[in-house]
Amino acid sequence: MAFSKDILVVAQVDEANKGALTSLTFEILGRARELADQLGSSVIAVLFGASFEAEAEMLVAYGADKVTLVEGDLLVPYRADAWLPDLVSMASELSPALILIGQGTIGGDLAPRLAFQLESSVATGCEDISWDGDKMLLTRACYGGKAREVVSFDCATSVVTIKPKSQSAMPCDRSRNGEISTLPASVMAEAIRTTVTNRESEQLVGQQLESAEVIVAGGGGLGGPEGFETIAALANVLGGSVGASRVACDMGWCPSHMQVGLSGKTVAPQLYVAVGISGASHHMAGCANSSAIVAINADPDAAIFNYAHFGVIGEFEELIPALTEEITKLKG
Ligand SMILES: Cc1cc2nc3c(=O)[nH]c(=O)nc-3n(C[C@H](O)[C@H](O)[C@H](O)COP(=O)(O)OP(=O)(O)OC[C@H]3O[C@@H](n4cnc5c(N)ncnc54)[C@H](O)[C@@H]3O)c2cc1C
Repeated sequence: MAFSKDILVVAQVDEANKGALTSLTFEILGRARELADQLGSSVIAVLFGASFEAEAEMLVAYGADKVTLVEGDLLVPYRADAWLPDLVSMASELSPALILIGQGTIGGDLAPRLAFQLESSVATGCEDISWDGDKMLLTRACYGGKAREVVSFDCATSVVTIKPKSQSAMPCDRSRNGEISTLPASVMAEAIRTTVTNRESEQLVGQQLESAEVIVAGGGGLGGPEGFETIAALANVLGGSVGASRVACDMGWCPSHMQVGLSGKTVAPQLYVAVGISGASHHMAGCANSSAIVAINADPDAAIFNYAHFGVIGEFEELIPALTEEITKLKG
């Protein structure tokens, strides 16, 4: 079998956001485009669902050379059994050097299954990909975010999931040309072993964390849900969103979609205000790329001060209301 240096990108839409393509899809396409330009190869995107012609054009505008729309009623909502047959046959036919999938609920489920069926290798949660002449080098966090490791595989196709906010999308270029084709899904209903019995959506307050320019995040130091009301007022005057550490989510003070960190969301806002957050590496793995980190913590020795660009030592109960009031005054 001939192996190519092409890159296959599994595009995804966000059902909670009117079925729009995810920002992570554009980020992955941006990196795939750069690599394909270096390698003299092509970027092929695949999207599962139905009626995605407009999205297919967007995928081309953001870097894809070819787009395959796999269409079928059984493909939404996502179930691995429904997507895998066509994805495996596409990958076997194309033999791409890389299959890139967004790191998230779907990517974490799909990537290892795909690699297993292709008898290939998988690296999850990667933050960078480079090419060293004859193999792909994949960089990702290890030891709870304290270190980075570089892995590579001796196989024709590597399946890789990419962490949100680790890559940059290329500017939208509507003049780009690409080939768009559709393929009816081959899966039969009886082959799908998973049934989605219920779906619950959580109320989103403010902007999605991944796209927020300002985040005020609270941790164990807030002592309860009331503490989150205090920081929400600050987030409100700053026009930002509220995030949380795992401790705060595990305690039930706020919903899990607000968790930032290794096992939560990766964010990169212009301003990240960490209130009552110790600065554990697992938390910082999700916010260290913020342009400015402001730490407010009662403990002068808290690890968060090693990461913060600005730090205030003190009790949040006094500092946050005063800061909120002052900013409100300044904003007139
Ligand atoms: C595999 C794994 C994955 C993980 N993933 C994540 C993750 O995604 N996200 C995450 O956050 N954690 C994660 N963790 C947990 C992580 O290791 C820490 O336990 C957690 O981040 C600690 O949360 P915290 O700093 O809010 O709470 P604490 O450790 O309880 O720290 C509270 C801080 O608040 C300060 N404080 C107390 N009172 C006040 C006050 N009145 N005013 C101001 N400051 C005050 C204290 O000085 C302290 O620094 C993970 C752990 C593991 C093992």
